[in-house]
Amino acid sequence: MLKARSSSFSAQIVLTILVSTCAMTIMVSFLGYAAVRKVDADAAERELRFANAKITEEFARLREEQRVCTIWDEALIEARAGNTDWMERNIGVWMQTYYGHDAIYVVGPDGLLRYAALDEKTVSLSPGQRLPEDLEPLARRLRSEMATASAGLDDSTEAVSELGILEAVRLDGRPVLVAVSPVVATTDRLPQKPGTELLHLSVQNLDATMAGRISRPGDLAQASFDPTPPTGSHAIGHPVKDAAGNTLTWLKWTPNRPGLRMVHEMLPAIGLSVLFGLGLLGWLLRRLWIASQQLHRSEAEARYLANHDPLAGLPNRMHFEETLVGALDLERRGGPSVTLLSIDLDRFKAINDTLGHAAGDELIRQVAVRLRKQVRSSDTVARLGGDEFGVILLGMSGEETISSFCGGLVHMLSKPYTLAAGQAHVGASVGVAIASRIGGDMEAVLRCADAALYRAKRDGRARFRLFTPEMDDVLRRRGEIETALRLALESEDQLEVAFQPIFNGDGEIVAAEALARWPGGPEGATTPDAFIGVAEECGLIHALGSWVLERACRGAVEAGLPKVAVNVSPMQLRSESFAAEVMRVLGKTGLPPQRLELELTEHFHLDPGVNTRRNLHDLRATGIKIALDDFATGQSLLQYVRDYEIDVIKIDRSFVSRLGYGDGTDEVVRAMLDLGRAMGLEVTAEGVETQRQHDILIGMGCRVFQGYLLGTPVAAGRLAALARGANQRSA
Ligand code: C2E
Ligand code: CA
Ligand code: CA
Repeated sequence: MLKARSSSFSAQIVLTILVSTCAMTIMVSFLGYAAVRKVDADAAERELRFANAKITEEFARLREEQRVCTIWDEALIEARAGNTDWMERNIGVWMQTYYGHDAIYVVGPDGLLRYAALDEKTVSLSPGQRLPEDLEPLARRLRSEMATASAGLDDSTEAVSELGILEAVRLDGRPVLVAVSPVVATTDRLPQKPGTELLHLSVQNLDATMAGRISRPGDLAQASFDPTPPTGSHAIGHPVKDAAGNTLTWLKWTPNRPGLRMVHEMLPAIGLSVLFGLGLLGWLLRRLWIASQQLHRSEAEARYLANHDPLAGLPNRMHFEETLVGALDLERRGGPSVTLLSIDLDRFKAINDTLGHAAGDELIRQVAVRLRKQVRSSDTVARLGGDEFGVILLGMSGEETISSFCGGLVHMLSKPYTLAAGQAHVGASVGVAIASRIGGDMEAVLRCADAALYRAKRDGRARFRLFTPEMDDVLRRRGEIETALRLALESEDQLEVAFQPIFNGDGEIVAAEALARWPGGPEGATTPDAFIGVAEECGLIHALGSWVLERACRGAVEAGLPKVAVNVSPMQLRSESFAAEVMRVLGKTGLPPQRLELELTEHFHLDPGVNTRRNLHDLRATGIKIALDDFATGQSLLQYVRDYEIDVIKIDRSFVSRLGYGDGTDEVVRAMLDLGRAMGLEVTAEGVETQRQHDILIGMGCRVFQGYLLGTPVAAGRLAALARGANQRSA
């Protein structure tokens, strides 16, 4: 789609350039053509003028040459005398050979020929022979002009010597130029009576010879006379007309056409230029095409980067939310139903901490691959951040279908991952929101999926939960608690620490457990179970833990307690600075490390990062005791003791409460006590509420007890008196 669009864009650019180039080429060609035409037309006009001048010149020449021998005393004398020999030598054959005239006639006032020469030979005249019929009218006309000019004169010489006729006519069907002049004397020795004059006719054929004389290589090239008018662009002509204006023949020649000649001469150069231009254009277009493709690629890349998470190769949150908005919109208009999954990896942080960030990245990539495999191509899988993923399922309806899909997803995601650094076991919690049931906008659907995810995690992780409205309330409440807790930690006087005494078998107080209290907390959030979880989730646990630790240590010092036990969250243990923080508090309150016991819930080992190990090691090295709280089974005890060097185990309240029921609990508790003793651990029984439980435990060899039977948590102020009283009583 993107590629198609980019190609069509590039094609558009290329097309635009091609069309402009073509248009320009056509324009330039047209201008060039017009210029050539104009130059050629000008040249043709010049040639026509030249041809006209040439023909006029030929007429004039014919007359000039004729007059050389017609205005001559001797010519008049010899012609009158009919001296054929003389005429042949001086005005007949001679004129033909010297001047190239084609026919010569001398005709008397009676109209009879006195002399004729044709083809450079004197014609032997038969008696009474007259001029050729075609020439008669010319002679007649000149005679009448001469008669008019010399009317009433004794001697016509002067009146007629300048008269003459010069005309193109058809002689025996062939076009010719004819010059007719009277033969006159140059002196007044030979007067002529009007009407007695001899006429001399010179005929010049309009033929190839004549054309050859007119023609020159530069002008009127290959000229010829031709009766048909010139046609086509390769011929041009000038008409030769008779006195009546009828065209007798055409002087035709090949037009010079300098424009066209120039084009012909420049043809190789033009060809080269065109080739070069085409090459340049091709090169330019190619560059342009490549550049535009590159532009599109980088644009597509930028768009991809803006919309995708480079690590997982999945759409990012921005793109995901856009897609979700679109899908919800479509659903509202009758499109496929939308189901949103919010996925969070369990214990991802542990992988990062233990196997390193590269392993974490690899894991994210593998999870992405598994997710993609699990959904259809129409669904959307995105990485929303850290170890959070989102899935939009389209057209999956029915709670059962969705549930079985999500069950499969959780199962598939919890299979081991083979990373370069080793095998990793991570599960995933999934929150599911079916958009049609929520009916809100994108934010509402996202919030609901998060609420369901939160519930899935609360319920023990590695599972999915479908959103129900009640979950939203839980989430909202959690927000309220978080806000209130933040304020409480700042104000310093809202939170308190209660101390629950811990006794030995003789009823002496050997220690007390510090328990956080929030009397003024939001409704239902005054007990630690309600707010510790929130504090852990929002990161407030560090501040809260430090605050409790300090209060507990100070309380122990003030009350002279032999030992104080403080609960520590796994999150605190993961903090790099935890051991240092504990030492700081001990230094500040003056409590010796031997009198501090840190209680870890059994779950801490789920996240055995380097920091946890180092913290425990450093703390133990100072003499601080480590207790394993809520201890439920002996199974992993051996491993804990070896890995973390536990000092104390606290048997969980749930076991103590079932003592004496004959359901096997007694045997389990006895085994825990035996195991603890065998490993040199102190064992505390938690939640001792009845004397019977106390007795059974004593019978099993338990030596340390905690529970409402012996003492409930009390405020710090009452601790000292309590400790004194108890220890005095037992003494
Ligand atoms: P826990 O560490 O197991 O603490 C003992 C809990 O059992 C306390 O509840 C205590 O009041 C209750 N308890 C003691 N004796 C009896 C008995 O005989 N019967 C019954 N039913 N309950 C008894 P509390 O104070 O509500 O604390 C709940 C949990 O909150 C604690 O369980 C502990 O895990 C956590 N917690 C309390 N304070 C802190 C703290 O400062 N930091 C951390 N991280 N967790 C704390
Ligand atoms: Ca505890
Ligand atoms: Ca406990």
